[in-house]
Amino acid sequence: MICESLEFDRAHLWHPYTSMINPLPVYKVQRAESVYLELEDGRRLIDGMSSWWCAIHGYNNPVLNDATKTQLDKMSHVMFGGITHDPAIELGKLLLSIAPGTLQKIFLADSGSVAVEVAMKMAVQYWYAKGATRKTDFATICSGYHGDTWNAMSVCDPITGMHGIFGNALPVRHFAPSPSCGFYDEWNDNDIAPMLELIETHHSTLAAIILEPIVQGAGGMRFYHPEYLRQLSQLCRKYDVLLIFDEIATGFGRTGKMFSCEHAVVQPDIMCIGKALTGGYMTLSAVLTTDNVANTISSNSPHVFMHGPTFMGNPLACAVACASIKLLLSADWQGNIKRVETQLQQELAPASEFSNVADVRVLGAIGVVEMKEAVDMAQIQKMFVERGIWVRPFGKLVYVMPPYIIKNEELSTLTREMLKVIKII
Ligand SMILES: *Cc1c(COP(=O)(O)O)cnc(C)c1O
Repeated sequence: MICESLEFDRAHLWHPYTSMINPLPVYKVQRAESVYLELEDGRRLIDGMSSWWCAIHGYNNPVLNDATKTQLDKMSHVMFGGITHDPAIELGKLLLSIAPGTLQKIFLADSGSVAVEVAMKMAVQYWYAKGATRKTDFATICSGYHGDTWNAMSVCDPITGMHGIFGNALPVRHFAPSPSCGFYDEWNDNDIAPMLELIETHHSTLAAIILEPIVQGAGGMRFYHPEYLRQLSQLCRKYDVLLIFDEIATGFGRTGKMFSCEHAVVQPDIMCIGKALTGGYMTLSAVLTTDNVANTISSNSPHVFMHGPTFMGNPLACAVACASIKLLLSADWQGNIKRVETQLQQELAPASEFSNVADVRVLGAIGVVEMKEAVDMAQIQKMFVERGIWVRPFGKLVYVMPPYIIKNEELSTLTREMLKVIKII
């Protein structure tokens, strides 16, 4: 049976970034609980990925399960056009209580990529409403990742992103080099110089700068200096360009702050959140903005913001999101992330001595081992699974961002087995 179902999967189901002719092997998970993924043959893997930043409270969490079931018995979905409901209202209140204070208006969307599309549309519509119809372009920094939809793709890293394939079909954006001062380095003013020049040259056509604050995720797992954001924010204000933060990966405590922009004490005009918003239960995202942006859009023709997804404000997703945020706030989450960070720092440090490792870095509950060469994904994945851990590298990056509930012993097993594999590949 195992063979037959995996054969079907291989023949018919597309997986992320995968070939349909020669797909990489997949592992069948039959259930998941706490920090464990259980394979069909009963093997249990310690999860180091939180299902791509999402499952911060672990799997099958009783509190989140309850919230889902309770809401399911009331209604799983109703349209948001002309209707509202408690899960959306409660989620709105919770988000306002934790988000940067200037962000007062919330647009609920379906996924991270859609949130990025919405944020970019918001920026363009803001300038349209002000009569600045030339301000429709965007700038960003290299090594970014913002999702797989059209506009999101256009601001992903131009080399490692998908520009090569989609080329002329993509809107052409402005790219500044990725900041080179690391989070823990000494700040150097030269780091912002190319962005300064870019903004000086192009501000009259720029609607916004979009970037991931502090941590660049899927584009390279880089941690850059908070001063970059402080200076960028001043430049944006000076040159009348909106600032969009993509906190889809970094939100909800992952970097040690509730939102990573807090490391720089900078507030954006527009902020995208997603991924861990529902604790990894289902897809939901949100775009938060200021009174200024929302009211400007609403005060001028066409007086409405032109977006409205079918599943906007899905009650089931909102109810789980409320439960997830309350669960996060109910304990000392900062102390907990510090615990994971300290342990990752201690336990990954030995890898910096390995001859095949270029760099080891940790921020919050994110641990990265950057190799000198790209890894063979199928081979390394198999070795991890044989050692009872779930880690999914890409390119030269072998990294973990475990569920926050991971226990010290589990984290030690995860890092120990990870380093054992890294050492011998
Ligand atoms: C994952 C991610 C997205 C895209 O989110 P999806 O839910 O996959 O569409 C956008 N931006 C960042 C920073 C992300 O990590």
